[in-house]
Amino acid sequence: MTKKAFITGLTGQDGSYLAELLLSKGYQVFGLVRRSSTSNLERINHLFNQIQILSGDLLDQSSLMDVIAEAQPDEIYNLASQSYVPLSWTQPALTAEYTALGVSRLLESIRRCKPDARFYQASSSEVFGQPDESPQTERTAFRPRNPYGVAKAYAHWMTVNYRQKYNLYNCCGITYTHESPRRGTEFVFRKITHAAAQIKLGLANELKLGNLDARRDWCYAKDAVYAMWLMLQQAQPDDYIIASGETHSVRELVECAFNCVDLNWQDYVSVDPAFYRSDESVQLVGSINKIKTELGWQPQYSFEQLVEVMVDYDLKKLSKNGA
Ligand code: NAP
Repeated sequence: MTKKAFITGLTGQDGSYLAELLLSKGYQVFGLVRRSSTSNLERINHLFNQIQILSGDLLDQSSLMDVIAEAQPDEIYNLASQSYVPLSWTQPALTAEYTALGVSRLLESIRRCKPDARFYQASSSEVFGQPDESPQTERTAFRPRNPYGVAKAYAHWMTVNYRQKYNLYNCCGITYTHESPRRGTEFVFRKITHAAAQIKLGLANELKLGNLDARRDWCYAKDAVYAMWLMLQQAQPDDYIIASGETHSVRELVECAFNCVDLNWQDYVSVDPAFYRSDESVQLVGSINKIKTELGWQPQYSFEQLVEVMVDYDLKKLSKNGA
């Protein structure tokens, strides 16, 4: 029988890759889309005829109940959230509404309308904030340091609590930063790969960055969504870290991106303290021992391959736009 999956955050980076993956596996895919006055379907335009769009919002309980009752999904992936950390400081209450309370509304809707559905919650490494240990594991204490991380910690524990209290099949994937050509340019990885392509094509001539020594655990969004799907295929629900398990500095990233376009990064990159993050001392890196041992998952793309994929994409896209 055809399996049915319901994705919130369908229009986002991960939602679009997950929809592609599930379609390739023969799923019937439903996606939650909130109304906007202009189209926000750019990432899923190519899938439009293959997926069923359902209108709703994480802020509205009745809309969630209606769409779950209508779709009757076997699997539900909650990828929707206010996902930009800096914005969570300027809109802390709204971030909590989407990213924390939105998950309560969704869990209640599942409990009432489709309690046998398997549920994936997009947790984040931001729940660790200033961690006690490195690398972090599934047992590392949560010490979030921004409103986004606090909201994700609430959502994580609500998902675990509903699993324990109501015996629901609920899983949390604690994802570290993952990137792709579908990532916004406000995120440093895409900002750099996009700028390297622009400079190569003569469309820009400089790139301003913050701390070049900051290190991050980056992986490809395609690898991350595969791990999400895999988590829901197990006999028992559980929580896993999804990460690359290694860190690279912004300097390495810049060097690699400019190498892809045969340019010397030092000729174009300058450091602007305005881009420094206040929590730059924090180093988040995930241990992937548990997911590797229990599910056999590990990233398929290396850091260098990811940089290459993204620079190539921007080179092609910008050249086409120019033409
Ligand atoms: P994204 O590109 O920012 O997408 C977020 C999605 O959430 C969009 O589809 C957005 O819809 C939707 N959304 C926001 N508020 C909503 C609401 N009130 N009701 C319904 N939909 C709403 O995020 P992503 O990078 O794909 O990340 C997916 C999930 O993983 C998020 O929960 C994020 O916090 C988490 N995460 C991501 C990373 C990462 O590195 N990417 C790392 C850790 C955790 P619109 O198109 O209408 O705005």
